[in-house]
Amino acid sequence: MSVRVRFAPSPTGNLHIGGARTALFNYLFARHHGGTFVLRIEDTDTARSKKEYENNILQSLKWLKMDWDEFYRQSERMDIYKEHLEKLKRDGKVYKCFCTKPELEEKRRKCDLMKKPYKYDGKCSRLAEDEIKRLEAEGREHVIRFRIGPGTTVINDLVRGTITFDNRELDDFVLTRSDGVPTYNFCVVIDDALMNITHIIRGEDHISNTPRQLQLYKALGFKEPLFAHIPLIIGADKAKMSKRDGGVAVTDYSGAGYLPEAALNFLALLGCSYGSDEQVYSLKDLTEKFSVEHINKSPAVFDMNKLEWLNGFYIRQKSDEELAGLVKPYLAAKNMLPDGAKLITVIRLEKERLKKLSDIVENAGFFFTDHLEYDKDAYEKFFKNADTLALLGEYEHELRHTAFDKASLEAFTRGFVEKKGLKLKDIVHPVRLALTGKLVSAGLFEVMETLGKDIVLYRLNLPK
Ligand code: GLU
Repeated sequence: MSVRVRFAPSPTGNLHIGGARTALFNYLFARHHGGTFVLRIEDTDTARSKKEYENNILQSLKWLKMDWDEFYRQSERMDIYKEHLEKLKRDGKVYKCFCTKPELEEKRRKCDLMKKPYKYDGKCSRLAEDEIKRLEAEGREHVIRFRIGPGTTVINDLVRGTITFDNRELDDFVLTRSDGVPTYNFCVVIDDALMNITHIIRGEDHISNTPRQLQLYKALGFKEPLFAHIPLIIGADKAKMSKRDGGVAVTDYSGAGYLPEAALNFLALLGCSYGSDEQVYSLKDLTEKFSVEHINKSPAVFDMNKLEWLNGFYIRQKSDEELAGLVKPYLAAKNMLPDGAKLITVIRLEKERLKKLSDIVENAGFFFTDHLEYDKDAYEKFFKNADTLALLGEYEHELRHTAFDKASLEAFTRGFVEKKGLKLKDIVHPVRLALTGKLVSAGLFEVMETLGKDIVLYRLNLPK
């Protein structure tokens, strides 16, 4: 039996980190087994589905380098669902439900009052034929509901083990809405069965849908696939992931300058292990080592520090030239147009400190602009102090006669402070502030060499 898995996002939002992790587990499983990875856009909810979200999902998967083997859109398969609905009708497995929205809301309210979980009470399943005719003649709208049978439904979940549901807990769920549009729970079964999906790997939030779907498999005589429900991702505060955790969409991370290798590696570690304490894995390693047995049962905590660490690691793996190309758009967006040779030098200086590509602006933007933004407190402290200004003036004056390579600059500066009976930091802090606008930067003498004599002298003259 060859493995066939699918990722089936609804295009009702940008691709979420959790969705990307689900896609990745399916992808790794398919590639590990030499199987097929199907991408299926579940866009039957016409009110909420949007083309821009579909585009975002495809773009995010491509950025993560997850390529799919087959592609489907549910909106293009309506005839297939209709055909299967007819079969269910013929077999008496479905019924028309005429309950109105206010009626259903009232039923739900009563359940809430009694603190009982809501479940459709099956009222319309008992309608007599002539009653149905009468309601239809009145032009009353209806949905089609699936008749859940008696007994129990068992999921043999590859992650969570056996889960048994009493069918009395399941309600007769809706297969098509009043406008005839089929629902998720209906289409998903038809598609998974007709696409010969062997393993359904998806978020744990779908566990409650699974017994309903299994009932439908049975009613249609389809072979059941295997299920693996993967744990949810929670934020550092153990609550559901939110914007506070640094963004929820994959494109938030690509936009901020995370590398796809780092994001992929990070996602793969969310709730799954690979047989060692190692944290760094390439796509190839992951494909070799991935196993559903290594998926955890407990929720995965989104650890931003780990993502940043991994990103820094992959940044340092890049050649200076490649990294220069990657950071350029971030500088250009701030009108800091780098010249090629200088950018490479700056990359060499900054590579160790970059956590994400966009950090280049904050850490090294001063190399590429004439408009420094000074740290406000530091400005007050150093440049409103007559002694410091006098010292900077002297330093600037003597610096004019110094060779502008790193070693000479350091020797000169050390000699300068010694002569004055000062410490190195007494001059390094104000000079750094004058040249970079900040109190933290790459090594000062390297910064001076890279900026060059003209700019250094000019900036040392600025703060008056
Ligand atoms: N369209 C569903 C979702 O985005 C897919 C669930 C499934 O994998 O069955 O949540």
